[in-house]
Amino acid sequence: MTERPKSLPLTSLSQGQFNLLSVCPRKFQHTYLDQLGALATPEQQARLVWGGRFHLLMQQRELGLPIDLLTAEDWQFKESLTGLVAAAPTVFDPANQDDFTFRQSEHRCTLEFRGYLLTVIYDLLILSPEEGRIFDWKTYPQPRDRRPLAEDWQSRLYLYVLTETTDLKPEQVSMTYWFVRHRNPQTGELAPQPLRFDHNLTLHDQIRQDLTMLTDRLTAWRLDHAPFPQVEISKGLCPTCPFAIRCQRGAPHDIPAGNQSALPDLADIQEIVL
Ligand code: SF4
Repeated sequence: MTERPKSLPLTSLSQGQFNLLSVCPRKFQHTYLDQLGALATPEQQARLVWGGRFHLLMQQRELGLPIDLLTAEDWQFKESLTGLVAAAPTVFDPANQDDFTFRQSEHRCTLEFRGYLLTVIYDLLILSPEEGRIFDWKTYPQPRDRRPLAEDWQSRLYLYVLTETTDLKPEQVSMTYWFVRHRNPQTGELAPQPLRFDHNLTLHDQIRQDLTMLTDRLTAWRLDHAPFPQVEISKGLCPTCPFAIRCQRGAPHDIPAGNQSALPDLADIQEIVL
């Protein structure tokens, strides 16, 4: 097993970094070590700003601070907030808020793991002696298939870190995404939807194995001082990657006109940290 040598600085790793590391180590290198970020489209930027403001709104509400100024900025903030609070009474109804020992929004948690600092920020964390509930507000459309979100490093890392940093067993920990802008396709009315993932011991052990493999590989690549490995061409990711020219895996004219996938998916861009 490879531990991080003392010559390498302690590095914090988030879910976004694990996602990139899993998909293409070279892309991780370009993005995080060389700091060659890909630009979001104006539409993506606008959605990110909206998402950041909504998270701020939720945090202020949780702290009992005035939210009128924020909701006055955009009527959709108030609509989404009201819809979410109504749709999740077990989370927000004051009648259900006596059975927890810890409750905090934008709760940051770190765990040292093989010389790296695994870092998560829970939009809302509610703990009791019997269970740990993680909530995450998503402002992009609800995915049809739950599997990609189950396999996403946000779900995996968030569940893993909470289990490791509390006395809770994996089976007592869950993570629920709330898609706060979901609309009923028939009526068009706002209808926030949850997607819940329950943790378990088998999954926990698998995540630990995967984290060990990825962090050990990262340590070895950093010590090598050579370009990180590229994803296999057969995966088909390179022609639409913003680093295609740098990687000699394609050129801009290879990308079909109007193909926005050359830019990162909104779901792949990390939300603005408050
Ligand atoms: S072009 Fe291909 S190999 Fe290069 S960073 Fe992008 S996905 Fe990875």
